Amino acid sequence: MTGERGEQLEANLAACRRRIVEAAARAGRDAEQITLIVVTKYFPASDLRLLAELGVRDVGENKHQEAQAKAAELAELGLRWHFIGQLQSNKAAAVASYADVVHAVDRAKVVDRLARGANQGAQSSPERRLEALVQVSLDPPGTQGRAGVDLGDLPALAEAITSAHGLRLRGVMGVAPLDGDPAAAFAQLGVAAEQLRAVYPDATWISAGMSADLEQAVAAGATHVRVGAAVLGPRPAKR
Ligand SMILES: *Cc1c(COP(=O)(O)O)cnc(C)c1O
Repeated sequence: MTGERGEQLEANLAACRRRIVEAAARAGRDAEQITLIVVTKYFPASDLRLLAELGVRDVGENKHQEAQAKAAELAELGLRWHFIGQLQSNKAAAVASYADVVHAVDRAKVVDRLARGANQGAQSSPERRLEALVQVSLDPPGTQGRAGVDLGDLPALAEAITSAHGLRLRGVMGVAPLDGDPAAAFAQLGVAAEQLRAVYPDATWISAGMSADLEQAVAAGATHVRVGAAVLGPRPAKR
């Protein structure tokens, strides 16, 4: 890779992959079973082109407008687009038209809208399935701005996803609380994943772990880690 930014991304990516390999080894897991999703939110399309050249296939975005524009501009790269942000009901159908995976499904209303979008989208075909993960809340009850469902609400939401045409239930997603113990949070997510798998055996994905806590996530069984800053550097100020 030539160019300063390309070299920086290459080195960061190598270091991040090494962290995953080492964490997997410590957990007695095969690192090949762990997908690195590079979270590119706030970074320009040029960075995604460099990442694609470096072999990255899975990218994560959390803002609809930004994700939509990048997915359109970079369509020829064949990237897998993971929408990791909170889903607003009025945007969910649009997200479903370009996303390959949505990570933060948290209510039935969004399931309906996603299904509608998945069936109408530009890439829509009878075989197209938008892969969906249920976000499980890992925050203590009563936390402000708490995202995700409680364990008790997981079965109904999972059932809504599996009965929606155009969606495929793949597993669970979680974000460790800012000031808590990530290992404990991810253990809680593991319980949810197990509960889901008992009913839906192919809902095997666990999306967990970011730049600061990917080791704990891998130790707790994460199959997909979502890493931004450790690969791209500090995020530019919010626009
Ligand atoms: C931004 C974001 C990430 C990546 O966070 P980093 O700390 O930059 O690795 C992961 N998951 C979600 C849901 C995010 O919004």
